[in-house]
Amino acid sequence: MSDYISIQRNGNVALVYINNPPVNAGSLAVRRGILEAIELVEHDSALIGAVLIGAGKTFIAGSDLKEFGAPLEEPQLPSVIKAIERCSKPVIAAIHGSALGGGLELALGCDARVAAIDSMVGLPEVTLGMIPGAGGTQRLPRLVGIPKSIELICAGTRLKAEEAHRLGIIDAISIGNLADFAVDYLRTLGSKRQVLALSTPAAETQDIEAAAAAALKAGRHRPQVIAAIDTIKSAASTPADLALAEERRIFQDLRLSNDAFALRHLFFAERQSSKRLELDGVPGAEVNRVAVIGAGTMGCGIALALLQAGLEVILLEQNPTALQTGQERIAQEYQRRVAKGRLSQASAYDALARLNPTVDWAQLSAAQFVIEAVFEDLQVKQELLRKVEPLLRDGAIFATNTSYLDIDQIAEAAQKPQQVIGMHFFSPANVMRLVEVISGMYSAPAAVSTGFALARRLGKLPIVANNAFGFIGNRLYAAYRQQCEYMLEEGALPSQIDQAMEAFGMAMGPFAVADLSGLDIAWRMRKARAHLRSEGERYCRIPDLLCEQGRLGRKTQGGYYSYDERGNRQEAEEVNSLILQESRSKGFTRQAFTQQQIIERALLTIANEAALLLAEGVTTRATDIDLVMVNGFGFPKWEGGPGFWAANQPLSKLNAQQSNLAKVSGSTFKMGDLSVFHYLHNQPSKRSA
Ligand code: NAD
Repeated sequence: MSDYISIQRNGNVALVYINNPPVNAGSLAVRRGILEAIELVEHDSALIGAVLIGAGKTFIAGSDLKEFGAPLEEPQLPSVIKAIERCSKPVIAAIHGSALGGGLELALGCDARVAAIDSMVGLPEVTLGMIPGAGGTQRLPRLVGIPKSIELICAGTRLKAEEAHRLGIIDAISIGNLADFAVDYLRTLGSKRQVLALSTPAAETQDIEAAAAAALKAGRHRPQVIAAIDTIKSAASTPADLALAEERRIFQDLRLSNDAFALRHLFFAERQSSKRLELDGVPGAEVNRVAVIGAGTMGCGIALALLQAGLEVILLEQNPTALQTGQERIAQEYQRRVAKGRLSQASAYDALARLNPTVDWAQLSAAQFVIEAVFEDLQVKQELLRKVEPLLRDGAIFATNTSYLDIDQIAEAAQKPQQVIGMHFFSPANVMRLVEVISGMYSAPAAVSTGFALARRLGKLPIVANNAFGFIGNRLYAAYRQQCEYMLEEGALPSQIDQAMEAFGMAMGPFAVADLSGLDIAWRMRKARAHLRSEGERYCRIPDLLCEQGRLGRKTQGGYYSYDERGNRQEAEEVNSLILQESRSKGFTRQAFTQQQIIERALLTIANEAALLLAEGVTTRATDIDLVMVNGFGFPKWEGGPGFWAANQPLSKLNAQQSNLAKVSGSTFKMGDLSVFHYLHNQPSKRSA
């Protein structure tokens, strides 16, 4: 019929193949083709019905998001679904791979759904700043009820075929050839079976409200979550045609909202980040056995991430006591997961059987890849590398999890520095998705590729960066925190700054974060770098003074805040007076800050530092910077990251604010070129609507 849709006949049934590789995105051409195919089936008296099926590796894995920033062209998906429902002959969706978003909505518009056992279905629109706009909020509740629909749609849950079958979303799991199974199923189906003709199962109000409350909390009360809940609820109270029209109207509004643009921007950024041009042609080696050295906070988290992904792990410590502590920490995590029902006891045993805790360094010879997570000290790490390297097998890679140290200096301790890279995990390493894969001056591309591939195998989001102080994330965060400290000297208090940044959407304000991670880490780093400080550099002593008083954060029951026995933060009078006194001694006249001023100054600082990173070539992709801040530092994803934020501000305003920032930030402040982010306007996520 077209390049995108082809029809094959299996006796009296039409097999309508959707062919839009790689993921059969539901684009305009696909919608047009399906519509024509349905008309053909309707008018061909030799046919009793049709099966919609994906060519290649999947059904429709989602709508074509590139279309969503511009006016949508006809036929839009609801018209295609209406045509299927109006067709006098039954139409079946045969799902393999995934049926997501518009793909599942299309399938829900069919008279039945059959699926391959390894397929996946879901409505992820809310996670992209929208709501399902082609009947998903009306048809799903008719199959699974309102509370379950709220849970699934608001979280954008992807369900495996068996679970979807159990819930009634899928009518049958296919055995053998999917197309043949679907044709047989259609022949036994007989007549039409519209989902919309069903009534929504009754539910207890308290169950609906409990599901709504949980979804609102998890979804941070974003407009798309609120809208999804209201629209799903209407499936029980409003005639279908009216509810569908209202759903479509809300979808059309939301797909052009800032949240939707930002989330689409991150979606494309992530897709792009997985394509590393400079790594192409240099495949990563497959790794199955990894040694983790150091069983502290990070070492245990990394070991857990490796075990979760099915790898064998050698966990090495310097003494049996430290090893036992680490081993217990890992075992406890598994016990916790089993107790919460997240993991079967058998899987926990299987994972722990793949863990080899040891103090015997000779065991390292079995490892293909080593990740060190020992103390953050250059000499300690260099000595470790000198000791470890001769024990390793040929081709093994040594990755350091250092936060701030110079990878090249560490590598210089090695005979084969080309085998040394950085793998910067974030805490807790078994939970956080981000891993910065650091390519040092000596690192071989194959070593970087292997680190990248390993991180992906762990289900992480690897971002490649070149070696530089703080890499991408910690460097930006250090600049942000420093600017917030300047604001303390000039007139703000920690609680005011934290509240402002939390109101913007940061998971936690900078001072609450400092208290959580411990003020001593940055203190040690500042001391180590004190000799690099130049004259005229603005230096805020407040965090040093707190450390000198033993206020190292939560671990000492106090840092910028005090903490009660339940861990709630409270303003600390003594800290606030220390800040006022420091302002006075530095000659500042304290000024009031509005929330907006705090937010803009902080964000501008991050964007400025990001522009410097790009200019210095630490990374070549502005979009990678956004991914780092969102996935590693609690930057609100619905704001798209600092680059996306900057791209959406008038450049003249940014430049004026940047000049002011330069004036208050001391003579060593460097200005970045903020126009570098404005290219983001030309990305598919940001077409004019
Ligand atoms: P930690 O103090 O909790 O653990 C370090 C462990 O290493 C200890 O158990 C110690 O016994 C062991 N160790 C020290 N020297 C050793 C040696 N020579 N051989 C074997 N074991 C040795 O520290 P951590 O917080 O897990 O940090 C480890 C590394 O990870 C540091 O480089 C740190 O900068 C980095 N990092 C930490 C975080 C974080 O949030 N904690 C985040 C990212 C990166």
